[in-house]
Amino acid sequence: MKTQRYSRQMRLPEIGPEGQDKLLKASVLCVGAGGLGSPALLYLAAAGVGRIGIIDFDRVDETNLQRQVLFSTDMVGQPKAQEAAQRIRQLNPDIQVEYYDAELDAERAARLFSLYDIILDGTDNFDTKFLINDAAVKFGKPWIYGAIQGFDGQVSVFNDRGGPCYRCFQPEKPRAAVMNCAEAGVIGAIAGIIGVTQALQAIQLITRHKNFDPLVGKLWTLDARTMQTKKLSLRKVAQCSTCSQTPERIVLEYAPFVCALVTKISASQLKENISCSLIDVREDGEWQQGHIEGATLWPLSKLLAGDIPHISKNAEIVLYCQKGARSLQAARVLQKNGFNHVASLAGGYAGWEL
Ligand SMILES: [Zn+2]
Repeated sequence: MKTQRYSRQMRLPEIGPEGQDKLLKASVLCVGAGGLGSPALLYLAAAGVGRIGIIDFDRVDETNLQRQVLFSTDMVGQPKAQEAAQRIRQLNPDIQVEYYDAELDAERAARLFSLYDIILDGTDNFDTKFLINDAAVKFGKPWIYGAIQGFDGQVSVFNDRGGPCYRCFQPEKPRAAVMNCAEAGVIGAIAGIIGVTQALQAIQLITRHKNFDPLVGKLWTLDARTMQTKKLSLRKVAQCSTCSQTPERIVLEYAPFVCALVTKISASQLKENISCSLIDVREDGEWQQGHIEGATLWPLSKLLAGDIPHISKNAEIVLYCQKGARSLQAARVLQKNGFNHVASLAGGYAGWEL
């Protein structure tokens, strides 16, 4: 083991050669290389976490540079995952860095989570946090939650050795968050504080020295206007929809909320509008079990693979799925492909059948 690089932290009794060895053998997957992922990745790499994975589908944008300190002006337009990987490889060539220039969806979560010891959440939306949580519980991985807005930040560790999961604390997406699609403001330095705190939590979980008391079952909050901090206790909920289930029963779902204007129509409105093209975006097996008469089957998986139906871009299209989430995602795909009148059936086929 090359120790010179790590000598200043190896002097600490909580780390020492033993802790350093654990760090070098550990692996962390960072979901999102943005405001939180940037500082977290820099400190994890510098500390010598042996294998680091980065998943992000985004490109570097000029408005990111105020807080996403991994990136510099010349990287604008480049894939974040790739640039982040390159940057931390430069910082520490002794560690292994893997990157995935992709969106974390249910399938990728299932594939990647089992490959890492710890998941670090650098995301900014509820849909991905729920997916991270459910996949982390399913594959038995602790994960480090972080969130920032304005001058406020919070950190917790979920699903560590019987501790509560995110859904014990936040069972569903808050309605206000669903309604508010505007991007909130944030001060760059708070992203630094919270991301670095997440990295420190990862180091504690890896080294597990008895002097450490990681934020398992605790929510640490900071108001950086006043520097007021709090540590709130979180309890494990016996009937939690995720962590009370056996791993096989946890179904991973990812249906991000769509902020583009997708008209939602009710079953009765659909019954009146017989001229529209009705498309069922569920999978073949679900279609076989029953569907709305007059509909055409065009699964979401097909749309996501880039296979778009040959219908006039000006046709009135109504999409439906089982409950109304996948059809919103499908609507977004069609809108991106230039379809002008796309609606989604609220409540989906389940609501139609009632
Ligand atoms: Zn739970």
